[in-house]
Amino acid sequence: MNVAFFSSKNYDKKYFEKVKNSNHSFTYFETPLNKDTLKLTKDFDAVCIFVNDNADEAILNGLAENGVKLVALRSAGFNNVNIDAAKKAGISIVRVPSYSPEAVAEHALALILTLNRKIHKAYNRVRENNFSLENLTGFNLHGKVIGVVGTGQIGRAFCNIISGFGCKILAYDIYEQDDLKKKGIQYVSLKKLISESDIIALHCPLTPETHHMFNKETFAFMKKGAMLVNTSRGGLIDTAAAIDALKSGQLGHLAIDVYEQEENLFFRDLSGSIIMDDMIVRLIAFHNVLITSHQGFFTKEALDEIARTTVHNLDQFENGEPLDNEVKGD
Ligand code: NAD
Repeated sequence: MNVAFFSSKNYDKKYFEKVKNSNHSFTYFETPLNKDTLKLTKDFDAVCIFVNDNADEAILNGLAENGVKLVALRSAGFNNVNIDAAKKAGISIVRVPSYSPEAVAEHALALILTLNRKIHKAYNRVRENNFSLENLTGFNLHGKVIGVVGTGQIGRAFCNIISGFGCKILAYDIYEQDDLKKKGIQYVSLKKLISESDIIALHCPLTPETHHMFNKETFAFMKKGAMLVNTSRGGLIDTAAAIDALKSGQLGHLAIDVYEQEENLFFRDLSGSIIMDDMIVRLIAFHNVLITSHQGFFTKEALDEIARTTVHNLDQFENGEPLDNEVKGD
């Protein structure tokens, strides 16, 4: 199949070229898929997209007109694809449902430890021969209450890691997992989780139900000074409300690997540009906010698995086989 990659980086090319087979020809575009770049998809059988590419109804109809029959996501999340519109347009959607839950769970932990123990500040201080400990006080994780929202693959991996720290774990999910309960993880209501946790980690998908799950009202009943960690999708948090909660001290620490308006920022070097997004600039200015640009997935193991599974998805489609990783919608 002729496959057009969008939002592709050098590392995508490196990992996909390793596992590619002679059934497929890959063309790598750095540009994201959107209404302006849709014309590039003419004569391709499939497009391979990532988290910030747009596959809304208009784009999917345009893809179908250009002869595209398959959208292969290089991600687990598919909130950027209108599944119903894809169905109507006769386009199949496949994704990589599980490439390395541990990669994202470990990144969530890295964010927590870095922000809590101020490792990013200590690193910079020592490089300038400043060996003072003033203002670097952290807190023990041992004995703290950790709230995990979403106990699917990543949330489960996160629970397993954080239990080693001697924390009490509260969980919220629309489906409860018996094996996690047996390990002592307690499922509670979202409200109880938010009001009792010292650290809240978000691992549920972005859906209409979870959009702005953290808003003015939810921040108000959070434990004062608690930490919120989001490695899931930016839209789970109302950024303006988070900024207000940080200003008032209600939100004590915020660590994010994802950001509501990330499509105009993340995965790019903008060091020579004026940043027009005032919210991200405000967030960066807080001493108690830590931001990474959607790198939770970014390990060698995960990149290998993303490439391998995507080629498997393309092979199955090409051979007319049932698609193991199809996103069918409701
Ligand atoms: P998963 O499908 O295995 O688990 C998601 C869990 O969320 C499920 O248990 C589901 O029941 C639960 N859930 C769904 N709706 C909910 C709701 N309204 N309230 C509470 N829980 C709800 O997915 P996963 O592989 O664990 O991934 C979770 C999310 O992590 C993805 O949707 C994606 O957005 C994000 N992600 C981020 C990165 C990154 O690089 N930062 C990488 C991969 C995935």
